[in-house]
Amino acid sequence: MTSPADKELPKPSNFLRQVIERDLEQQTYAGRHWAGHPADAVEHQQGVPDPAKIRTRFPPEPNGYLHVGHAKSICLNFGLARDYGGVCHMRFDDTNPEKEDQEYVNAILDTVHWLGFGWEANGTQHLYHASDYFDFMYRAAEYLIEAGLAYVDEQSAEEMRINRGDFGRPGTDSTFRSRSIDENLQRFRDMRDGKLADGAAVLRAKIDMASPNINMRDPAIYRIRRATHHNTGDKWCIYPMYTYAHPIEDALENITHSICTLEFEDQRPFYDWLLDRLSEGGLINKPHPRQYEFARLNLTYVITSKRKLKQLVDEGHVSGWDDPRMPTIVGLRRRGYTPESLQVFAERIGVTKSDSWIDYSTLEGCLREDLDAKAPRAMAVLDPIKLVITNWNELHGEGKLDDCSAPVHPHQPELGRREFKFGRELWIERTDYEEVPPKGYNRLYPGNKVRLKYGHVITCTGATRDAAGHITEVQAELVPDTKSGTPGSDAVKVKGVITWVAAADAVQAEVRLYDRLFAVPQPDTGEKDFLEELNPDSLKVVQAFVEPSMAKVKADEKVQFERHGYFVADRKDHLASSPSNGGEGKPVFNRVTGLKDSWAK
Ligand code: ATP
Ligand code: MG
Repeated sequence: MTSPADKELPKPSNFLRQVIERDLEQQTYAGRHWAGHPADAVEHQQGVPDPAKIRTRFPPEPNGYLHVGHAKSICLNFGLARDYGGVCHMRFDDTNPEKEDQEYVNAILDTVHWLGFGWEANGTQHLYHASDYFDFMYRAAEYLIEAGLAYVDEQSAEEMRINRGDFGRPGTDSTFRSRSIDENLQRFRDMRDGKLADGAAVLRAKIDMASPNINMRDPAIYRIRRATHHNTGDKWCIYPMYTYAHPIEDALENITHSICTLEFEDQRPFYDWLLDRLSEGGLINKPHPRQYEFARLNLTYVITSKRKLKQLVDEGHVSGWDDPRMPTIVGLRRRGYTPESLQVFAERIGVTKSDSWIDYSTLEGCLREDLDAKAPRAMAVLDPIKLVITNWNELHGEGKLDDCSAPVHPHQPELGRREFKFGRELWIERTDYEEVPPKGYNRLYPGNKVRLKYGHVITCTGATRDAAGHITEVQAELVPDTKSGTPGSDAVKVKGVITWVAAADAVQAEVRLYDRLFAVPQPDTGEKDFLEELNPDSLKVVQAFVEPSMAKVKADEKVQFERHGYFVADRKDHLASSPSNGGEGKPVFNRVTGLKDSWAK
């Protein structure tokens, strides 16, 4: 895969790259074997020397759409595997029986592919489900009980909470902590066999109720929950807790570097405790995976909480998960973000161990750089007002049109030229005319000359108003022998150049002017409800005129409308006869971003 990120060698180092480079140098994981699939110690040992130098994983819970924070995690995990001769596993962390949807599973797989990554390597699809490991997790739990390292606790939830203690106060041992191994085994099997009610008991690791790390005070590892699981159905009424399941998933998959966000730092001692115990018991191999934490992505003007994003969708503040204002990857895609721009963004923001906020303009900047090189140019008039060239008929003849052209891309002549007409009636931007020009205004006002880009120089003569005083038409006279690209055309000097389209060949289009969804840099961090911080001007829909070359644009294609910014033909509605664009099948463009950061102070 080549992307702009690859061209920016050498990549900025970060602490994860240093860890991996050290492990490779010291051959920390060189002796591992691989069964060809996730497996326990014995099966892996009988396998081949692991062909992957390192193994990482991306482990989403299929309970929602991925967002820009996940994009960072995807680029990081798949990117490190790619860069160091490793493999990144695509793993659904589906140990929660609660509603996990196939819709989300499909959307997640599609999104990872779209971002430019895959899980196929060495002839194997590394696509896994944590729920496939439930049998092993159960076996490991019985092993812990037999080794005197776990017990069934039947305290009430309230007692358990009180006895856990807090930061300043050590916990108190449960009266069930001293049960015999046989009794624990029997009670755990009772839990499994449905003989206990939901919540009546939990299996806990037996570690240290006085540990300064509360996560080490005998954490619960199994709970009773009668719920149908999308993969295992009603086979189980007990389910492993995340903190117990995750290290085991990593170990069975031969993961070397298990990368997660900072909030899991306090859980690392339990991660290591569990894998040490299981390798002592011969259930998994050593060296076992190691967990590393990095700072999650916080992006200004954006919220990434799945629950709140869902609220925005459910309450109709946006049109859906893929609304172009959403920070979901499907939303960013529909907004016009490219995989390359997101990869460059992930690379540029780097990996750190302390939380910080990344400015939204950094994300937009990555996209502008990518689109500047790729996007064809076109003229578009977003707030049209008619301009009449009053001397056109006497100079060129009534009904005559003039052929004009412009490069498709100013720096890529090989892309050719785009053709359009010039005539007596043109569309220009309403803001390009002022009767009384403010200071420094170089565009149309009575007596001023401007160039119509790629066309002719004109002299403004005035404008017509309706009864209410609104301008309905602007008039100008063409200055002969000034057509762009003809000899001597620049003899007449002008200060202003404006864009336009000819009424004769312009194409009508709906343009959706998207802006940031939130009006404040850190929504949802202060007193106010995040809904009150929505930007009321995050979407304005206008009926525009675009250059005829735009009639050929296909859905998803990006373009730069000169002077206005980058736009994308909407994935869903462009040329589609859908009710959301009036059922007309007309071009629909979304504003991706302006040419400059309009939010900078
Ligand atoms: P959220 O809290 O937004 O719902 P999550 O952490 O519950 O996200 P998961 O599906 O569990 O969602 O996440 C999959 C992976 O993506 C995890 O490894 C997680 O650490 C990582 N991840 C989630 N949010 C971010 C973020 N903002 N920045 C970087 N990585 C993230
Ligand atoms: Mg999570």
